[in-house]
Amino acid sequence: MTERVYNFNPGPSTLPYTALEEASQDILNYKGLGMGIMEVSHRSKEFMAVVEEAEADLRELLSIPQDYAVLFLQGGASMQFAMAPMNLIMPDKKGAYLNTGTWSKKAIKEAEIVARVQVAYSSEGSGFDHVPDDNDYEVDDDAEYLYFVSNNTIYGTQFHSFPDKDKMLISDMSSDILSRPIDIRRFGLIFAGAQKNMGPAGVTIVIIRKDLLDNAPPTLPTFFRYKTHAEKGSMFNTPPCFAIYCVGRVLKWIRQNGGVEAMERRNREKAGILYNILYKSGFYRPHARQSSRSFMNVTFNLPTSELEAMFIAEAAQNGLVGLKGHRSIGGIRASIYNAFPVEGVKRLVEFMAEFEKKYG
Ligand SMILES: *Cc1c(COP(=O)(O)O)cnc(C)c1O
Repeated sequence: MTERVYNFNPGPSTLPYTALEEASQDILNYKGLGMGIMEVSHRSKEFMAVVEEAEADLRELLSIPQDYAVLFLQGGASMQFAMAPMNLIMPDKKGAYLNTGTWSKKAIKEAEIVARVQVAYSSEGSGFDHVPDDNDYEVDDDAEYLYFVSNNTIYGTQFHSFPDKDKMLISDMSSDILSRPIDIRRFGLIFAGAQKNMGPAGVTIVIIRKDLLDNAPPTLPTFFRYKTHAEKGSMFNTPPCFAIYCVGRVLKWIRQNGGVEAMERRNREKAGILYNILYKSGFYRPHARQSSRSFMNVTFNLPTSELEAMFIAEAAQNGLVGLKGHRSIGGIRASIYNAFPVEGVKRLVEFMAEFEKKYG
């Protein structure tokens, strides 16, 4: 077997090795059933137990109150860009949005198709290098909710405290869910594609306050209603069984490793090591403003795009892969989600020092 590399990919991304090992066995024979987990009926008691356990573990890890539903949906985070405003914005109301990067921009575009929208703040003018403070913007009174992306995966910025505007919050937490404790009560809806910080691609987790399930207009088809999936325990149709199973393995790993508080400590440590070198260096230039720097995706540039290409290629030769920045901003992006080991960050920092010595 080839040695495991340090995988900095932004999503799909590195997963806990123990979860992969467990899955590799269960693919062949699940709990002695004589068939693999992917071959088990989604209506069987064995698979129902998988879903129930995943939900219970998620509830425990994030302290999700009983008046919130947890759903396992398909369609990715991108489907939620449309589903959230379709379900939640009453005809005389609007959605307020903070535009802090590519993913908020796409969400705004979808919301505008089905409802009125207020873009309360945009950091586009400065290359999405920060997220706003509460006093940087106002939210209209007739806004149903305030929508924000808690971690901007592409630009490497993150809300370190959530907006406090006396509005129900909605958040796309695709790239930082389970990276720290959160106060669910402040949110009407949270959604996250699994493939960044929680599992493989194919399932999207939705956490929604149950009273909101009745907001959907009568014209909305059955499948697009949160209520449909809540009432059927995410089994309205065949769910993404294997992806849910894998998320379950990752949730167990988080529990065995101290929960979200421990994840946060480790994430702070990892990001700290990287930002420490970025701070001191004149060679590497961080993209995000200091107060907005993400603990999940660390973005930076080198003096020229030629050097950046060399950096990415030489890093890969040293077992550090997936460091190329998103095509919309270029440069380098180190994605260091929960499952990414501290040792990998240390290796990257050593490599960065050597690279600077050689070419700086
Ligand atoms: C990756 C990402 C998305 C898109 O997720 P899909 O599951 O591919 O639709 C949306 N929002 C954020 C913050 C992301 O990081």
